[in-house]
Amino acid sequence: MRIHRLSFTLVLPFALAGCATQSPHAANISQRIATNAIASPSETAPVADTPAPNDNLNALVWQQTSVEAKLISEQAYRDAADRLDAALRDKSWDALAKDERANPLKGLPPAVVLDVDETVLDNSPYQARLIRDGKEYNEATWADWVREEAALPIPGALAFAKIAAGKGIRVIYVSNRAQDLNDATLDNLRKLGFPIADKDVFLGLGTFVEGCEQNGSEKTCRRQLIGRRYRVLMQFGDQIGDFTGILANTPDGRVQAMQPYAGWIGERWFVLPNPTYGSWEPALFNNDWSQPAGKRRQSKLDGLRYK
Ligand SMILES: [Mg+2]
Repeated sequence: MRIHRLSFTLVLPFALAGCATQSPHAANISQRIATNAIASPSETAPVADTPAPNDNLNALVWQQTSVEAKLISEQAYRDAADRLDAALRDKSWDALAKDERANPLKGLPPAVVLDVDETVLDNSPYQARLIRDGKEYNEATWADWVREEAALPIPGALAFAKIAAGKGIRVIYVSNRAQDLNDATLDNLRKLGFPIADKDVFLGLGTFVEGCEQNGSEKTCRRQLIGRRYRVLMQFGDQIGDFTGILANTPDGRVQAMQPYAGWIGERWFVLPNPTYGSWEPALFNNDWSQPAGKRRQSKLDGLRYK
């Protein structure tokens, strides 16, 4: 899940430093300091431990605690479940991008394809820890989290997967988690009750696909592999790269990549909300994570619309 995870947002302890106008957050801290001035020294300790301001906090609070986030996910999966029978009946129905379908559909058994992180598994506790601890994403702490096998399901995902499996549809998971995390990922999914027909339903990074040249962590080859064996009824993801290849990861390029499939959204392709990380973020700074954090942040500010 390299590119995917690299897109985690940044800890920016300097965000308030040097600001001429004090933010409400800073004002609140000042108020607490003033209040604590009459308290004993030990009681003032929590102020020093206050986590630094983090650009990801509100996004994560929404993702993890808001009922709105839960309702959107449930709505997407319920809509999908309601359409499964029609998709099964229509033997010409296929949810693979047109340039990824090279073989005829005739006789292929049905499948649904789901991304894993923030599509079926909720990793928000990992991000909460990053904010609490003032840390950025790194592969080691991410691997530790995955190996806890403690991720909970994204609302609606488990019910949908069970319904699909119950109709004889193969449920396939395509993930960019590192290969050495495959077992922990499958165990996590199994413990939650997700249908895992066999080990082949999980296509992680490094899956070899004959006749297809893998481009980084793109999922195109793996989707083609699925297409050779199955008629894909639906796809699910929190990133547009979960559905199709992206020629240019810029804001405009991303819109263009999805434009031919606008009619498929909510019908064959189901997008789950994820405001906390994703390829939409580096799209604003030329996908160059080597830039200093402040420069990347400025590019994001520059990318906003002000009127
Ligand atoms: Mg994902």
